[in-house]
Amino acid sequence: MDRITIIVPCYNEQEVIEMFYPAVQAEVKKIPNTEFDYIFVNDGSRDSTLEKLRKISAEYNNVAYLSLSRNFGKESAMMAGIDYAEGDAVIIMDADLQHPPERIAEMIKWWRAGYDDVCAKRVDRKGESWLKRTCANIFYAVMKKFSTSYEMQRDVGDFRLLDRRCIEALKLMRENQRFTKGLFTWLGYRKKEIPFEVQPRAAGQTTWNYLALFNLAMKGMTSFTTAPLRLMTLLGLTVSGCALIYMIYILAMALMYGDPVAGFPTLMSVMLFLGGVQLLSLGIIGEYLAQIFHESKRRPIYLVDEMNGKRMIYKSEFVPVERNTEVKNFSGK
Ligand code: UDP
Ligand code: MG
Repeated sequence: MDRITIIVPCYNEQEVIEMFYPAVQAEVKKIPNTEFDYIFVNDGSRDSTLEKLRKISAEYNNVAYLSLSRNFGKESAMMAGIDYAEGDAVIIMDADLQHPPERIAEMIKWWRAGYDDVCAKRVDRKGESWLKRTCANIFYAVMKKFSTSYEMQRDVGDFRLLDRRCIEALKLMRENQRFTKGLFTWLGYRKKEIPFEVQPRAAGQTTWNYLALFNLAMKGMTSFTTAPLRLMTLLGLTVSGCALIYMIYILAMALMYGDPVAGFPTLMSVMLFLGGVQLLSLGIIGEYLAQIFHESKRRPIYLVDEMNGKRMIYKSEFVPVERNTEVKNFSGK
C-alpha cells in the first residue's frame, strides 16, 4: 500500500475549496493500492478559506491543514506542505481545480514505473492572452540560453508528483527567494512529462498579475543564472571599444583638418546612451545584490500559525511545536 500526500496551497479560495476535496477524492478512490491524504496550506487568506479548511479537516480524517501566519506566496506555501508531507510521494495541485484530478492515476502509473518527478506539461496556452504567452516565450528563451548546467522545463506548472527522494532533497534547499520550478529542474532525478490541458478556474479569481509574473521571472533569472552580469561586462567592453575607435577618429579629424566641432547632438546622444548603459548595469547588479540581501538574513521560508486546530509556537529551528492554547472557534479534531 503506497501513501500519497496531496498538497494544496490556498489563497483566498473560499469559492472553490469545498468543491476540491470531493472532486479529487472521487478520482483517487478509483486508484488501487494507494492511500491518499491531503495537506491544505492556507497562505494567509483574507476570506473564509481557513474556516472552511477547519471544517473540511474535521469532517474527513485524511485531511490536515496548515495555516501560515500571513501571505507568503505560493512558492513558500508549497514548501510548507512539502515539509509536513508524510507520503511516499506527494502531488502538488492548485485549489481551483485547474489541474484535472483525472490525471493523477497516470502520474502514479509513471511513478510506479520508476520516475521520481512526474510533471504535467501544458499542451497549449490557448486560454492566455497574447502578451502573457509572448512574455512566457521570452522568459523560456532567455533561461534556455543562459542557464548553463541544466535546461528549464517548458510550460510545466506546479502540478506534479514528487517521490520521497525529491522531497527530502528539496527540503535541503532552504533558500528564501524560491523559484520552485527551477529548483525542481535543479534536482535532476528521473523526470517524466505528461501532457495535460489547463482547465478553466472552477470559481474565484486568479491572484497573478503582470507585475507578479515579472517579479517571478526576475527571481527565476537571478536565482538560476549570472549570465546578465557577464552580458553587462561584454556590453561594457563593446562600448569602450567603440568609444576608443571614435576617439581616435575625432582626434585625427581635429589634427588633420582642424575641425574641433563634433557637435552638440553627438555629445548629447553619446552621453545619454552611456548613462543608460550604466544605469542598466547598476540595476542588474542591484538585482543580484537584493538576492544576496534576502538570502543572507536566513529567515524561515514561512511561519506556521495554526495546524489542525492547534496554535503553533517556534522554539528552535524551523519546526514549530503546539502551543497549549486552543484555537478559538475551532470545532473538530
Ligand atoms: N496561491 C497561494 N498563495 C498566493 C497565491 C496563490 O497559495 O499568494 C495558490 C492559489 O490558492 C492556487 C494556486 O496558488 O491554489 C494558483 O493560484 P492562481 O489560481 O491564482 O494562479 P493561476 O492558476 O492563475 O496561475
Ligand atoms: Mg489557477
